[in-house]
Amino acid sequence: MSIKKEENKLEKIVGFAKSKGFVFPSSEIYGGFAGVYDYGHYGILLKNNIRDSWWKSMVQLREDVVGLDSGVFMHPTTWVASGHVGSFDDPQIDCRVCKNRMRADHILENFGVSADKMPIETINQELDKLREAKKLKCTNCGSSDITEAKRFSLMVKSNLGSPTEALSEDNVVYLRPETCGGIYLEYKNTMDSLHPKLPFCIAQVGKAFRNEIVTKQFIFRTREFEQMEMQYFLRPQEMKAKYEEWKKERWQWYLGLGIPGDKIKWYKHEKLAHYASEAYDIEYNFDALGGFKEVEGIHARGDWDLSQHSKFSGQDLSYYDDATKERFIPHIMETSVGLARLFLMFIDNAYIEEELTNSKGEKEIRTVLKLHKDLAPIKVAVFPLLKNKPELVGKAKEIYTNLRQHFMCEFDDNGNVGKRYRRQDEIGTPYCVTIDFDTLEDNAVTVRDRDTMKQDRVKIDELTEYLKNAIKS
Ligand code: ATP
Repeated sequence: MSIKKEENKLEKIVGFAKSKGFVFPSSEIYGGFAGVYDYGHYGILLKNNIRDSWWKSMVQLREDVVGLDSGVFMHPTTWVASGHVGSFDDPQIDCRVCKNRMRADHILENFGVSADKMPIETINQELDKLREAKKLKCTNCGSSDITEAKRFSLMVKSNLGSPTEALSEDNVVYLRPETCGGIYLEYKNTMDSLHPKLPFCIAQVGKAFRNEIVTKQFIFRTREFEQMEMQYFLRPQEMKAKYEEWKKERWQWYLGLGIPGDKIKWYKHEKLAHYASEAYDIEYNFDALGGFKEVEGIHARGDWDLSQHSKFSGQDLSYYDDATKERFIPHIMETSVGLARLFLMFIDNAYIEEELTNSKGEKEIRTVLKLHKDLAPIKVAVFPLLKNKPELVGKAKEIYTNLRQHFMCEFDDNGNVGKRYRRQDEIGTPYCVTIDFDTLEDNAVTVRDRDTMKQDRVKIDELTEYLKNAIKS
C-alpha cells in the first residue's frame, strides 16, 4: 500500500468537504457570502468532537478550571477598555485595477519582513521599497498599481436596540471579536459565586466575529468563527511555571489526537504588547495551505485585562490572598484556539489517498480520512450484506438500534459491501459491522477496521464491548 503524493490539496479538501456533507459555503443559492461557512451533518459531528475533546482536557480533567458561556453582545465599553475599538485592525492595501483587497502585513511577510505590531507609516515605507524594486504586485491580477496601506478595523458593529437610526458612537454595539472579553467580565461573578482560589481558570467556547480583510483560505480565516479560550488567573510569581506547564499540556493535546510531533512547531513572538511577558503560537504545517500557520496562541498577559476593566467599570477586581494578606489584580495567561482552524488541521492531517491492489490485481485509489477515533463523526457503520433479504435487514436494524445507544452510528444498505466500505473510509468511520447469512446461524458479525482493513468475527453479545475497547485503543 503506498500513499499517493497529493497535489492541489486545498482544492481537494474544499471539494471533498462539500460533496461529503462536512462544510458548505454559506448562502450558495444566493450566489454565496464570503468569509462564512456552514457545517453539514458530518461537519458538525466532527466539530463537536473536537470541541468535546478540548473541553474534556481543559475542564473535565482539571480541578482548577470552571466553564462559562457568555453572550456575544456585551457592554460597548468592554471593547474600549480592552483596546479593540482603538486599535484592533489590520493594514489593508487594494489593487486599483481589479479591486482585490490584500493584507499588507501578509505581503511583507512573503518578502521576509515581519510587520507584527509595525506602525502604518513603517509598513508604507517597507511597501515603498518593494514598489521601487518592482516587486509589489497584486496577488490576483499581477498589476503594480497598488494603494498605500491604511488601517482597517476588524470590529463588527450592530445597532442592536436602535432599529432605524444610523450607527453612531452612542448606539453602536459590537459582535465580540474574541470570546475572552466575556471571561474578564464574569471574573467577578465567578469569584463571588464559586469562590475559587488562585490559580484558577475560566474556559469557554463560543462564536467570535471579525471583519477580516481577506478570507481566501477556506475555513482557516473566516468572518464568523468559534474560539475555545481559557484564561488562567494567577499570582505574578506563578506565571513562569504555569506558562511552561500549559505549553506542555497544549502540545500533548495535539499529539494525543494523532497530530505528528514534526507537523507542529512553536513560534515565539519577538514583539510583544507592552503588558505581555511571553507569547507563543502553535503552528501546524498545513499541506493544503503550503506550510506552517498559526492554530493556537498561548500568551502571558500580565494584569492588563482586569486592570483595564476595573478602571473603566469602576469595580474592584482585585483578589485578597489569605496566605500572604496581600491584595492585587490577578495576572492572566491564556490559551486561545480557533475551532475551525483545528477542524481544517485535522482534515488536512487525516485526508489520505492510498494506492491499493484489489482482489483482481488491479491498482485502485482508496480515499480515507484517518481521523483519530475520538474525532471520527461516525464511529460504527452497520450493513446488512444484501438489501433485499428481510432477515438480514431485520437483524442489522436490531444491531444498529442497540449500537446507537453507545455510539454515533450509520446504517447503510446501498450498493455492494466494498462500495459501502469506501464510503465509510471517506468520512473516517473506524469500524464497519456486516451482518451476513452466517450471522443468522452463529450470532456473530464481521467487524472491519478502517486503517488495517482487517476483518474480525465477533459474537453479537460481545459486540458493544469489543467496539468500546477498539474505539478507545
Ligand atoms: P491571525 O494572525 O491568524 O489572524 P490572530 O493572532 O489574530 O490570528 P488571535 O486573536 O490570537 O489570532 O486568536 C486566537 C485564535 O483564534 C487563532 O490562533 C486562530 O486559531 C483563531 N482565529 C483568529 N481569527 C480567526 C479567523 N478569522 N477565522 C478563524 N479562526 C480565527
